[in-house]
Order: sequence, then structure tokens, then C-alpha cells
Amino acid sequence: MSSITNIYTDPFILGLQQFPTPKVPEDAVVSYGYAKGMPSPMLGQTHSEETKRLIGLGWLGRTHTEESKQKMRRPKSEEAKRNMRNHIRPAERMENHRQRMLKDNPMDNPESVEKVRKTALNKKPCPHCGMMGNAGTLARHIKARHS
Ligand SMILES: [Zn+2]
Repeated sequence: MSSITNIYTDPFILGLQQFPTPKVPEDAVVSYGYAKGMPSPMLGQTHSEETKRLIGLGWLGRTHTEESKQKMRRPKSEEAKRNMRNHIRPAERMENHRQRMLKDNPMDNPESVEKVRKTALNKKPCPHCGMMGNAGTLARHIKARHS
């Protein structure tokens, strides 16, 4: 395979530059140059690293249309919609917590403090490697090291 190292003379890149950003219909499944349902011309083939780099360069400077940006902003599923509705901005969440702690902070109660202290001192071995830790540190440890 011949290798092209100059993007200014590469016929593939020059070809790309002759087309304006294509307006793709919302329900389009296929890309340009071959019909819906036909096997991809690249089927079973892969681009070389150099070609992939050049394809990437060919896309530089292209921008999304306002329509596709709007489309990207729309929730993708019912679940995403629910998540967006329930979302609280981190700053707001912090402020809510701060207000709650000013009103009735469990750490003002010696009984609660003692409970937290006992939980922190209750150390158990990690089931994967035996490292000793309390519930909080073990949960973090297992997430970081064993998953
Ligand atoms: Zn472990």
C-alpha cells in the first residue's frame, strides 16, 4: 500500500474538501455513496492507521448544524428524561446539605458521634486481597482495585 503523508496533496482529503457538510436526514442509516441495505464497501476491510489519521483530519473544522445540536440535546430515552428531571445542580445539592446540617447536624448529638466512631473502627478484611478496612474504605477499595 502506498502511503500518503501530505494532506495537501492527498486525493482523499482533497475529495472531502470539495463537499459541503452533508445534510443527513434524521432517519438516515447509510452514509453517502451506496444504497440503504447494501453491504458497506468497507465490509471486512480496515483502514490503515495513516488513512484513519487522514480521515480524522478531513473532519476537522466541520461543525454540527443547529438542528443536529438541538437533536443531541434531546433526551435519548424515557430513562434519560427521568434522570434529567431529577437532576440537582451540584452547587444546589451542596447548599441544601449545608442548610440541613446547620439546622440539625447529627454530629451535634454525642450518641450519633459514638455510632459513627464505632462503625469506622469496625474493620473487616477485603474478600479479594485481605486488606483491612471499615465499610467506607473497603467499598472504595473494592471499587478502585477489584472492579
Ligand atoms: Zn482488596
